[in-house]
Amino acid sequence: MATSGFTNTHRLFLQAAISKRLMTEATALDLYSQDNFSDFVGQLNEGLNSVELEFRRAQDEVSGAFVMALFDAIVMADDEAFCISSTAALHEAGKLKNKENKPLALSKKDAESLLDRFVKDQWLIRSAAGAYSLSMRSLLELQTYLKETYDDQIQECTLCMEIVTKGQRCVVAACSCRLHNHCAGTYFGNMNKPVCPTCSSAWTGRTLIGLSDRTAAPSTVRRRRRRREDGGAEVGEDGGQDENGGDEEEDA
Ligand SMILES: [Zn+2]
Ligand SMILES: [Zn+2]
Repeated sequence: MATSGFTNTHRLFLQAAISKRLMTEATALDLYSQDNFSDFVGQLNEGLNSVELEFRRAQDEVSGAFVMALFDAIVMADDEAFCISSTAALHEAGKLKNKENKPLALSKKDAESLLDRFVKDQWLIRSAAGAYSLSMRSLLELQTYLKETYDDQIQECTLCMEIVTKGQRCVVAACSCRLHNHCAGTYFGNMNKPVCPTCSSAWTGRTLIGLSDRTAAPSTVRRRRRRREDGGAEVGEDGGQDENGGDEEEDA
């Protein structure tokens, strides 16, 4: 392959980019930390063409900002709902700002067609009632990004250590135990009196996290923490939406 022009800088950058899968331009520049980032991206693509990989710089500022705002709202949703209503999703579109902090004019129609595209590309799942949650693809491909960006909000299954956005939690509020439904099923099996693997309290299996738990999407989106990735443009706002949403989704 035509990677003879590659230096260690190229290789290191690619390694980081591949492990993250998705990053803001600020992070990319941080990683690169030299001038001429555009030239650098050009060199990367030249080197990667032969293996049909491409490092794509987000061409489209609007869709990039929108999908990251949606991830933010979904992960931050109250009470570990890990979903937002379609009204809340459109509300996010209305708040988008560019790097100069100027509003990005995104019409409702454009926002809706972007949401359709995110669902079609399998970054998001839309429930029958119109609630949006993270897809299996997002959870798998972006797990490093999600864990690094939302280390306080993202929950990991106590048994398999993978991210869990739909499953069961311990009845004890202070207990950190979260389980995928399938992991809980395997672990508790035929136990007569299931107990929490972390704190040994009785496990009812009825305190749930994620979409299937709810007949309605959360009424607010909490924004008390900055996203760590890029310094976060938004703090302390709230989505203030309510709309029904939530029903059966694949186990994630
Ligand atoms: Zn698990
Ligand atoms: Zn517990």
